[in-house]
Amino acid sequence: MSGPGGRLQEPLTRLLGTRTGNALAKMGLATVDDLLRHYPRRYAEPGQLTDMAKLAIGEHVSVLARVERTAVRSNASRNGARLEAVVSDGRHELTLTFFAKHPGALRYHEQRLVGGASGVFTGVVGVYRGTRQLTHPDYLMVGEGGDVTDDESALYLASLPIPMYPATASMPTWKIQRCVRTVLDTLTEDDVPDPVPLEVRARAGLPSRYDALKLVHTPQHTQEAYRGRHRLRFEEAFVLQAAIAQRRARTAAEDATARPARPGGLLDRFDAALPFTLTSGQVSVGEDLAYDLAQPRPMQRLLQGEVGSGKTVVALRAMLQVIDAGGQAALLAPTEVLAAQHARTLRTLLGPLAEGGLLGGAEDGTRVALLTGSLPAAARKTALLQAASGEAGVVVGTHALLSENVQFADLGLVVVDEQHRFGVEQRDALRAKGKVAPHLLVMTATPIPRTVAMTVFGDLEVSSLTQIPAGRAGISTVVVPAANPRWMQRTWQRVREEVDAGHRAYVVCPRIHPDDEVSGKAAATDFDDVPDFLALSAGDVPDRTPLRAVLEVADQLRETPALAGLAVDVLHGQLPPAEKDAAMTRFAAGTSQVLVSTTVIEVGVDVPEATVMVVFDADRFGLSQLHQLRGRVGRGSAPGLCLLVSTAEPGTPAAARVEALAETTDGFRLAQLDLELRSEGDVLGAAQSGRTSGLRLLRVVKDADLIEEARREAAGVVAADVDLAAHPALAAAIAAQLDPDQEEFLDRA
Ligand code: ADP
Ligand code: MG
Repeated sequence: MSGPGGRLQEPLTRLLGTRTGNALAKMGLATVDDLLRHYPRRYAEPGQLTDMAKLAIGEHVSVLARVERTAVRSNASRNGARLEAVVSDGRHELTLTFFAKHPGALRYHEQRLVGGASGVFTGVVGVYRGTRQLTHPDYLMVGEGGDVTDDESALYLASLPIPMYPATASMPTWKIQRCVRTVLDTLTEDDVPDPVPLEVRARAGLPSRYDALKLVHTPQHTQEAYRGRHRLRFEEAFVLQAAIAQRRARTAAEDATARPARPGGLLDRFDAALPFTLTSGQVSVGEDLAYDLAQPRPMQRLLQGEVGSGKTVVALRAMLQVIDAGGQAALLAPTEVLAAQHARTLRTLLGPLAEGGLLGGAEDGTRVALLTGSLPAAARKTALLQAASGEAGVVVGTHALLSENVQFADLGLVVVDEQHRFGVEQRDALRAKGKVAPHLLVMTATPIPRTVAMTVFGDLEVSSLTQIPAGRAGISTVVVPAANPRWMQRTWQRVREEVDAGHRAYVVCPRIHPDDEVSGKAAATDFDDVPDFLALSAGDVPDRTPLRAVLEVADQLRETPALAGLAVDVLHGQLPPAEKDAAMTRFAAGTSQVLVSTTVIEVGVDVPEATVMVVFDADRFGLSQLHQLRGRVGRGSAPGLCLLVSTAEPGTPAAARVEALAETTDGFRLAQLDLELRSEGDVLGAAQSGRTSGLRLLRVVKDADLIEEARREAAGVVAADVDLAAHPALAAAIAAQLDPDQEEFLDRA
């Protein structure tokens, strides 16, 4: 096989000339390999190019048509000449126009645009005197691309699918096609190493990489192109899964301290005092965790469960088992608000068990320490000491837990809450704090379709909590058109009614200050204030101002007659931590009844009395995020109500998102829908904190079966040969296909 300096790494400037090479380099295509990975976006079949009946003014189109007639005319008023060629698909006509200073300069086009010849014409549709036309289109006449001269082979060539490449104005798709053909012609099978081993290919019925590239770039039939593309997709999945399998294998080979359950310990006493019965899901996931923790290998588990499915109790029980076995647990939360709340919740759940060493506490009880960046120096010192001495069995915190000077006596378990907000390196940094690798439990309330879990969290075993504990009254969701004053009035009346019944209301806005940048990014000092609509693909989000802002809306609500006499509080990431905490405490206690907030409340905030939520600019949020937000209400025994205030035009993707949310509370379906409404890059990016992988063709949602197959095969190959000594092409592909950051994430153990 060719090494790093092989044919595939040859610069395009050498093969195609400086000029073409530089034009391609502008598109990020510098080497042969780059160009061959520049796959066609789609294939135009004759007649399946842009339909000439549907040419829209201003649209960039490619049409396959036959030249009917051409004429060179002088411009009457000014100097110069123009060539007009009328082309037709047999039913509709289109004019091609070329201008020049003198007729002679048009000769080149005249010679190519011969009556009766077919070609593919690419340009932006304009209109002149009522006739649709392309001005200075790019074009490729049938027969020009290759050695086709006679009519029959011209017809044949015209019958081939035309690869349509992602292109630019200076490098139109047909020029790219030519470059690819030129380059492919210089290669042989030996020049193209194949990361998919022969036996795997044979089992899966896949062509070699070399053949696949030819199928994809120069197909004889569309079916061939699909066959090539399928094979390249498989390769992407296979390389990724092999990388993941390697990481799994390496982690599994690491030592961890076994933390078996201790009868009569804290866990047993906690269970005995629990005021409710565990759901059967909590019991069975609990058994999985208990088993994993008792092994001398690090547990690697992802726990996913709907908002309110009771993940916290499950995690706490795992922590207690570890404490019973002499270890400590760290709980990592994405925000200070959440960390503080987790610490409160854990202390409440534990009761006297969390008052170890205190008067009235259980004598062999433990302590829950809270360690966040904004802690006053004295409190911080105490928490640090409790962590380092082992006095605190549970240490709850934010990123601050990752700082160098945080020491644990014996860190046995790391629990990461809400993985999607956390980088993998951070997870690893914390794991590195144990003497040996601690066990790891990652929790997420965002339901993750199985294939995404396999792709993004492929190194983790997945457990799911599917039931919601009994006694929840459910939640209804209504879309409120922002422009309808009666509906808006009714919205505030509903808020009033809920508060009068002893409940509380959230009002969510995408911005903090009314004069902040639209994006909200400028406003946010805290990650949590950034609505995840910023992660949606461009074009999905209409450019519309202004978005509602927390401070402005809070002022307005204080003046709203329907809410007269209610205490309206605000919460956002720019508040000092103490004030954030105070706002949450007032709201939880009922001192304030309406909390106007950014998405800072998205994750995990638990106030059972909150029954109603109003979301402004709901159409600007992502589906999963809205679902998370909505999960903040209806957590007690009273039914929840979510009012989505939207300005989305009916029929737009934004409106579709909001309506989907009103129609279902099934988080799994919503996650799936959310994925379908986003691009793949966004999916992986969002799920992996901005890190995209080398995936070009693989569709995480649609290629579920293929990913499963690739995973099985990759697991087999890696199980037999962890270091891939016998598979250098695969090892090289793993190194090359993952970007440096991701490689680091996969390789770090
Ligand atoms: P999650 O973190 O999965 O969103 P929580 O762990 O915060 O959910 O649980 C939500 C609420 O349900 C908490 O108040 C918790 O004490 C309660 N809870 C958990 N398990 C049960 C159960 N089996 N029965 C009744 N209530 C439960
Ligand atoms: Mg939770």
